[in-house]
Amino acid sequence: MTDNPVAEPTAPPTGEPLVVLEQVNKHFGALHVLQDIDLTIARGEVVVVIGPSGSGKSTLCRTINRLETIDSGKITIDGSPLPAEGRELARLRADVGMVFQSFNLFAHKTVLENVTLGQLKVRRTAKDTAERKARELLDRVGVGAQADKYPAQLSGGQQQRVAIARALAMDPKVMLFDEPTSALDPEMINEVLEVMRQLARDGMTMVVVTHEMGFARSAANRVVFMADGRIVEEAAPEQFFSNPRSDRAKDFLSKIL
Ligand code: ADP
Ligand code: MG
Repeated sequence: MTDNPVAEPTAPPTGEPLVVLEQVNKHFGALHVLQDIDLTIARGEVVVVIGPSGSGKSTLCRTINRLETIDSGKITIDGSPLPAEGRELARLRADVGMVFQSFNLFAHKTVLENVTLGQLKVRRTAKDTAERKARELLDRVGVGAQADKYPAQLSGGQQQRVAIARALAMDPKVMLFDEPTSALDPEMINEVLEVMRQLARDGMTMVVVTHEMGFARSAANRVVFMADGRIVEEAAPEQFFSNPRSDRAKDFLSKIL
């Protein structure tokens, strides 16, 4: 299969750059998992990342909040280069909210405690302020009535909405979602996507790895298609889905649509 080099951006960013990756490379041993990644995400932009399993999508997300180190290149969040370690890293990492496929809530803490914890420990917010904010956010994602329960008492869709509230409680500048609905029963997918759509409408900058093409079409400003550790193609969603340019993207879409 041949591939045309077609990675020039087509949908210009709408605002100033918020997250900038320049020539980012990462290896896992012999595996070159991220190859010369250049990606600029504008303030308020919603970027959906799609691509085959193993193409590096999760690793890309994890490098943006420094859960993974990079071997070369540069990542800048709102003008500040990500430092290697220390207090500055903790502060910058708190600017990047992350929601995972597995909800990763603290099982032995209540829903409310899950949403206040980061505020108390990282932001050093006063307890009553943190709780007020947590309740507001839980209401906003539709699980306010569950505040005093434990995660295991909630459905998967409710847990994932708590995870979103927990991330939002840190006032992140950008939210990363790594397949947030992949572990959910089908009837719960939409309630989570709807919360994400609302966030997008409210102007949150978002990077979303998902197989939900309906979400990509309706909420994304831009689709980034990855394969084998590279950004192979990026385009506005209507253009990407109706007229993918690379063979890799055509092949991928033919399998999932
Ligand atoms: P995707 O999210 O697109 O499925 P990943 O970023 O999870 O892809 O993984 C990309 C490649 O890197 C895969 O081949 C995966 O097996 C490998 N990989 C991911 N994490 C690690 C790790 N911690 N150690 C070694 N290999 C890894
Ligand atoms: Mg992944």
